[in-house]
Amino acid sequence: MKQEFIEIFNARVNNLKHIDLQIPKGKITIFTGVSGSGKSSIVFDTIAQEAGRQLNETYSSFQRLFLPKYSRPEADEINNLSTAVVVDQKRLGGNARSTLGTATDINPLLRLLFSRFAEPHIGYSNAYSFNDPSGMCPECEGIGRIITLNLDAALDKEKTLNEGAILLPGFGPGTWQWKAYAESGFFDIDKKIKDYSEEEFNRLVYAEPQKVTVSYMNNDMNATYEGLAVKFMRQHVKRDKETSKSGEKLLKNFSTMTKCPSCEGKRYNNKVLSSTINGYSIFDLTSMQLDQLIKTLPKITSPEAKPIADGIMERLENLCDIGLGYMDLTRETPTLSGGESQRVKMVKYLSSNLTGLMYIFDEPSTGLHPRDVYRLNELLVRLRDRGNTVLVVEHDPDVIQIADHIVDVGPQAGTHGGEIMFTGSYQDFLSSDTLTANYLNRSAEINANPRPVSEFMESRKSTLHNLKNVSLSVPKGVFTVITGVAGSGKSTLVNEVFAKDFPESIRIDQSPVHANIRSNPATFTGIMNSIRKSFSDANGVESGLFSYNSTGGCPSCGGTGTVEINLSFMDTMEVECSECHGSRFRQDVLHYLYKGKSIVEIMEMSVADAVEFFDAKDIQKKLKALETVGLGYLSLGQPLTTLSGGECQRLKLAKELNTKGNIYILDEPTTGLHMSDVANILDIINKLVEKGNTVIVIEHNLDVIRKSDWIVDLGPDGGAGGGEILYEGPPARILEYERSVTAQHL
Ligand code: ADP
Ligand code: ADP
Ligand code: ZN
Ligand code: ZN
Repeated sequence: MKQEFIEIFNARVNNLKHIDLQIPKGKITIFTGVSGSGKSSIVFDTIAQEAGRQLNETYSSFQRLFLPKYSRPEADEINNLSTAVVVDQKRLGGNARSTLGTATDINPLLRLLFSRFAEPHIGYSNAYSFNDPSGMCPECEGIGRIITLNLDAALDKEKTLNEGAILLPGFGPGTWQWKAYAESGFFDIDKKIKDYSEEEFNRLVYAEPQKVTVSYMNNDMNATYEGLAVKFMRQHVKRDKETSKSGEKLLKNFSTMTKCPSCEGKRYNNKVLSSTINGYSIFDLTSMQLDQLIKTLPKITSPEAKPIADGIMERLENLCDIGLGYMDLTRETPTLSGGESQRVKMVKYLSSNLTGLMYIFDEPSTGLHPRDVYRLNELLVRLRDRGNTVLVVEHDPDVIQIADHIVDVGPQAGTHGGEIMFTGSYQDFLSSDTLTANYLNRSAEINANPRPVSEFMESRKSTLHNLKNVSLSVPKGVFTVITGVAGSGKSTLVNEVFAKDFPESIRIDQSPVHANIRSNPATFTGIMNSIRKSFSDANGVESGLFSYNSTGGCPSCGGTGTVEINLSFMDTMEVECSECHGSRFRQDVLHYLYKGKSIVEIMEMSVADAVEFFDAKDIQKKLKALETVGLGYLSLGQPLTTLSGGECQRLKLAKELNTKGNIYILDEPTTGLHMSDVANILDIINKLVEKGNTVIVIEHNLDVIRKSDWIVDLGPDGGAGGGEILYEGPPARILEYERSVTAQHL
């Protein structure tokens, strides 16, 4: 068959330098290059964008109102696209009702299985759903947790009722609500709560509603007495009404979530829990670790049940294949990490039989230990072999080597990138003179001279999630890496145990910088004020003119650079403001210059260029910090909302470069980084340590592990098979430990 190609002509999205590109269809193409070089601009902002737009065009304008909006990417021509499926790291999200089982459609199949083959039958498949009134636990309505009054917040046990022991608003001494307690005759109002008998305390908190007589303006009046928690639940939790702002605040301050006492967190009602197949309830199966469930299911299903069980097994196999065997189906999707979310999405698509699609992945190796990368590779190959085109942005050498075709973007980032450096086979790539190939060819060395360690910080011992009663001991003032396969317990031990015991530790993660459309590197670093002052001093006018949030903003778009146009029966479209051409500034402001440049030209300048341009020491220092973390390619005015998770993390790091004596916790800081940028991050970490900080890094990247001072390796496996500490010590010695999979990969 003739090889077909996706063709792109003269693409100039973001930093792309008028590139032409041909990508073979039905193959795996991997995009490499330093971060900020333009890989995403090609794959997501050009290819996926145009594919989405073309698909939208096939719908009526009315239907399009309900679809995502795509504008035409800046390119002369893009031919031969297929429907794009973007499998990215956006969290799956969902709410407390969505679990791994509901998200992968395994729960509906299990429900079907139970509705046909369980003893006793309790109804149709709905009856086995915790999201359906007929299956849910009535107490928690299928959430598994309930909100209760936080007694520590609501009561001051050192006080008496007379002294105002009840801290809830509206219960102060003398108030009507207080009288119901103080004058009920149940309590000695001068006795401290901590001295109450168990019966008194239970009555105060948990008593069911009953009539009592209290005095009001010298008259006896009937009132209803009920325990404080009972009252709180009735007033604030069990109401169907919309909660008011103040009600919300009250809930936040005075309530806690606890496991539902009625179903013990299982979400189902008793009817469901006592309906079983071979002794297993649907909860027994969903709460089982996936690699266990996959062994159990075939043993308990009869031949008649096989067709349904097969559908479940296929999905389970895919989940285990991709390295998620340590999870169980009850895991709530909002608690999945970015990498885990991406792998779950991947499995959904693997179970579909569509062919001829274009699958687009964003660093699918994120969060995967080198041990599991080959499984990811197998899945990518399977997608291709089904007749799909697979496009992958990736930095991991073990993934790159499976490419049928490689596109390397460079040479550097931002305005210094945006060119195609290489296209061709992996073999030819290795002998190319590109930065990426140079790194792929180099041999790696283990840190033979780690910093000496003396003092340690040790957390409490914990059994949270899968931890086997272990504590984390971290040497002070050095660079420690926490390693182990996905699900081995790294995040639990570091973020849930250690960080809670050392609350002064500072977590620098990949969550978005709190930013709106108006924040950019200049505002984030705080140099915007100095820049405005430079302009106002040079021109003798007020500095507000040089802010698009102030008098300088373009009146037509309000300083946002875009306007929405609303055509009846057509999509609302965001288009560039025709007045300021997206520059956000009033046009007359552009006449004022500083060192020959207008404020708009300054905002378009890259951080690296701005370091050269500005003389002021404070501006230089802050911008240099951005350069140090590898963000020199950002323009001063680029909205922070366009930054990736890895870029956000490095932006936050830049703010910390001049501190000392802190404990930093970094979660996979190499995500999104090219091998050459990893060297950069290592420099930053070492600078932080040199300044007297302690740095703890959760990481799979072998280059980072090799260069650490101290390794804590968790394992041996994920989930129940993990949670032990296999090795603690300097990097060189880990090689002697055969049980450590990390050692095998070093
Ligand atoms: P990569 O995927 O190789 O890391 P990107 O394609 O994300 O690189 O970025 C290439 C360049 O385009 C960078 O300088 C980046 O800051 C810039 N860029 C990316 N997205 C936007 C955007 N929405 N608006 C303006 N500039 C952007
Ligand atoms: P790692 O960081 O090494 O990938 P984790 O600490 O995330 O490992 O997970 C360790 C174990 O704890 C896994 O079995 C995982 O499924 C479980 N786990 C992690 N977070 C949660 C959570 N929020 N709720 C329930 N189980 C969790
Ligand atoms: Zn319940
Ligand atoms: Zn405008």
